[in-house]
Amino acid sequence: MSFPGDPYAPRRRRTREVAVGDVVLGGTNPIRVQSMTTTDTQDVAATADQAERLADVGCEIVRITAPSLRDAEALREIRAELDRRKVGVPLVADIHFTPNAAMLAAEAVEKVRVNPGNFADKKKFEIREYSDTQYDEEIERVAERFRPLVLRCKELGRALRIGTNHGSLSDRIMNRYGDTPEGMVQSALEFLDVCEGEGFRDIVFSMKSSNPQVAVQAYRLLALRLAERAPDAPGYPLHVGVTEAGDAEDGRIKSAIGIGALLLDGLGDTIRVSLTEDPEHEVPVARALAEQTHARWERAESLAPEPGAALYIPDAIETRRRSAVALPGPVVWGGTQPVRVELELGAPPDDPEPSARALGDAAAAAPDLPCEGLRLRAETTEALERFAAFAAAVGRQPFAPTLVLEMPATLAAGAKAGASGAQRWAISADGLDADLAAAAGAAADAGATVEWQLGGTPQEAVAQLERVLALSPAPFALSVRSETPVPTTRRVVAALHQGKCEAPIALLARAVPSDDGDDSAALLRASTELGSLLCDGIGDAVALSVARHGGGAPAQAIDLAYRILQGARLRTTRTEFISCPSCGRTLFDLQETTARIKAKTEHLKGVKIAIMGCIVNGPGEMADADFGYVGSGPGVVNLYVGQDCVERRVPSAEADGRLVELIRDHGKWVDPPS
Ligand code: SF4
Repeated sequence: MSFPGDPYAPRRRRTREVAVGDVVLGGTNPIRVQSMTTTDTQDVAATADQAERLADVGCEIVRITAPSLRDAEALREIRAELDRRKVGVPLVADIHFTPNAAMLAAEAVEKVRVNPGNFADKKKFEIREYSDTQYDEEIERVAERFRPLVLRCKELGRALRIGTNHGSLSDRIMNRYGDTPEGMVQSALEFLDVCEGEGFRDIVFSMKSSNPQVAVQAYRLLALRLAERAPDAPGYPLHVGVTEAGDAEDGRIKSAIGIGALLLDGLGDTIRVSLTEDPEHEVPVARALAEQTHARWERAESLAPEPGAALYIPDAIETRRRSAVALPGPVVWGGTQPVRVELELGAPPDDPEPSARALGDAAAAAPDLPCEGLRLRAETTEALERFAAFAAAVGRQPFAPTLVLEMPATLAAGAKAGASGAQRWAISADGLDADLAAAAGAAADAGATVEWQLGGTPQEAVAQLERVLALSPAPFALSVRSETPVPTTRRVVAALHQGKCEAPIALLARAVPSDDGDDSAALLRASTELGSLLCDGIGDAVALSVARHGGGAPAQAIDLAYRILQGARLRTTRTEFISCPSCGRTLFDLQETTARIKAKTEHLKGVKIAIMGCIVNGPGEMADADFGYVGSGPGVVNLYVGQDCVERRVPSAEADGRLVELIRDHGKWVDPPS
């Protein structure tokens, strides 16, 4: 099995401890939460203030950019100022392009982060074929620049992060590997060779990308490669993050998809959530993700490992969508259809008419975010009757979702008349064989497709699957309801591959968004659990549960589902914004600029717009954006189309208008709805 760990009984990856000042990462220590200051590093008082505020809200490690020698010098003053205030939070210097600044920073702070893509390489976007000899000579040149820092860190007891970014790989790596997870990992391992060559092991790795799928694949590959290098030793700790996630809900969702999915598999010892917001806002999100992860790791301890089990995806590094047959209904799903969005409503309502009307009104208010399925659950014949009344009421509304009725097999077996109106019957597969067969027969008589609902542990769900495979002649669908949905669904998918069965799968999220409380934990949970499977190409529909049929809850859940699909790069329903979290290099007010550009362009469905604070890292990090708005100096901006800089040093006051013109010139502009 080529997977870092056991996908069906995930355990925390075994890692060595690395001390960052008094905070120890890895081993059995809790997942450490970190963030980064956004102030000008040379403004010592402002940076110390922000670091203190971060520490006050529970940030355990604070990173500060040091783009120049003067910034690196300021780090010493910041450290001294924090010590004077008795704020012991360890500091990390963030270095790009300036080895000399790294050397100076190592004197002052507890950890240094280097980016192998630009530590000793200037980005020239050169295309050239390197012979093996030339390639090795280049590696040696970079190693010579890097070695003094390694030796100094070793001498001073500093930790080092080898932090690769998808968007800023060196020309050498790009030419040989492309901007691939393989290139990211290779880039980091070259730096590891230098560290290990000097006997230095206080190392942490990161493999960040703004695309959660790429981040997941790169971290997995890194964990595999590190395990190959030293199979018996605990691995180096991982710093997990998704770059340029943006702000608000989308930033949280993208972070939860990438970070949450990796943590769920046991990969990650420290995390940073990057939001285009004040860094203090990142900390509670990261803490919530860490807490949810520790709870998941605890639950997973009861899962029995299956060392011989086949992998659930053909390749854990290059995933693609699992092949599934299409199934009919008012909304066709599976096959090549986009991942569908359904709502789980629980029991049929007592009063069907207002409930159906509220759903119809919500559908009419957001035609671009269609509700494509409504799932309800009946446990009694009386509930079946209420379902029939509800189905009739939905039929009078201006939308036509697939109606899915969840039932135990015994109820489904006699449900032919009462369940009329449901095009799909979701039948619990934990009944007796005779009941399951009778239920499948009743569904066929009613003209409904069957969705077998599996549950329990991975082994229990697979046992249920084997029974339904034996008795279901017609194409059917599957869903999984489990306390451990990700490992259980994966195990089911592995068994489906072995049985050569291409049943489409509906992913049920355990989150219960409501319109009257704090939904942030639910949002993170749903994003992690759905995102983890979606990033692996699993899932033909997602269904989010809502506590109430009325109010804003259904619309909120539908909106969340579409945001998760967009965050996982599976279904685009809105403008995609890629914005950096800002740091001491930032050349304009990133939050205000992002909000302003969003207001002008958020109706441009499918267009990707990057807003980046500086040209040092911005162009590389904005990845696959269609258009880029990048700070290039005080009061001026460079504008990009794809990776090409098309307008330089545009005054900020004119830049918004020029960006809109560029979008228009490239045929991607539509007027906003009036
Ligand atoms: S792109 Fe943004 S976060 Fe990255 S270095 Fe530049 S200003 Fe800082």
